[in-house]
Amino acid sequence: MSAPILKIEGLVKRFGGLTATDHVDFDLGEGEIHALIGPNGAGKSTLINQICGEMRQDEGRILLDGADISTLPAPRRAMLGLARAFQVPSLLNDMSVLENVSVAVQVRRHRTYRIWDSPRGRRDLAAEAATFLDGTGLADRGGILVSDLSHGERKQLELVVARATRPRLLLLDEPMAGLGASESQEMIATLATLRQTHGILLVEHDMDAVFNLADRISVLVYGRIIAHGTVDEIRADPEVRRAYLGEEEA
Ligand code: ADP
Ligand code: MG
Repeated sequence: MSAPILKIEGLVKRFGGLTATDHVDFDLGEGEIHALIGPNGAGKSTLINQICGEMRQDEGRILLDGADISTLPAPRRAMLGLARAFQVPSLLNDMSVLENVSVAVQVRRHRTYRIWDSPRGRRDLAAEAATFLDGTGLADRGGILVSDLSHGERKQLELVVARATRPRLLLLDEPMAGLGASESQEMIATLATLRQTHGILLVEHDMDAVFNLADRISVLVYGRIIAHGTVDEIRADPEVRRAYLGEEEA
C-alpha cells in the first residue's frame, strides 16, 4: 500500500473507568475501504469522534497525510479533508435538499467568503451543489424540504452532504442502518463508486455490505482491535468468529 492517508497510533479514550478505545492502531490508504466492525459499545463511534475532532483523545496520535492533526479543532480537520456522515444528525430539516448541499459546498469554500450575500453567489453555489445530486436518487428532489424525505432519502442526502465538502476521507458510521434491502443495495453501489475518489472508513453491522465492499477489515471489541486483515482472513479468523460473527458459518 502507498503511504496511508490516515494513520492512528495508540489512541486511547477513557470515560471514567471505561476505556472506550484502548491503544488503537489503524491506517487507511488512498482509494481504500477499510471497514471497522464490532459489537455495540465496542468504541467504533468513539473512534470516529476522535478522528473528526469532536472528541479529544487521552493518548495517542492521529496523522492525516503524515501531519499530526490530533490537537486541531473539528472545523480545521474538515477543511483538511475529513468528513463524517451518519449516526449524528447533520441535516437541516427546515431547508431544502439543495440548500443542505449548498451549505456543505460553502463550508469547503472560503469560510469568510460571504457567498450568500449576492444573488450571483447564491446561483453559483446552487449550481455546484446540484452537481453533487446528479446521478443520485435525489437528482430531481432538490426543492423538497428535508423534513419531507423518507429515511432512505435522508441517508442518501447525508452522504451527498459529506461528499460536497470534497473530502479525501469519508468516515461513515453505519450507513446501512434502518435501510430496506433495495435501499441497502443502492447504498452499497454508491459506496463502491466513491472508493475511486475517497478513502472510506466504514463502520457497519451489515456483514453483506462489509464483505462486499471492504479492502481490509479491523475488528474492535471492548475498545481493542482484536484482528485485522482482508475479508477472507477475517472470515476465517477463529477469534473473530467467536467474539463477533458467532459460529453460524461453522
Ligand atoms: P459503538 O459505536 O461501537 O457502539 P461507542 O463508541 O458509541 O460504541 O461506545 C463505546 C463505549 O463508550 C460504550 O460503553 C459507551 O457507553 C461509552 N461512551 C460513548 N460515548 C460516551 C460519552 N460521551 N460518555 C461516557 N461514555 C461514553
Ligand atoms: Mg456507534
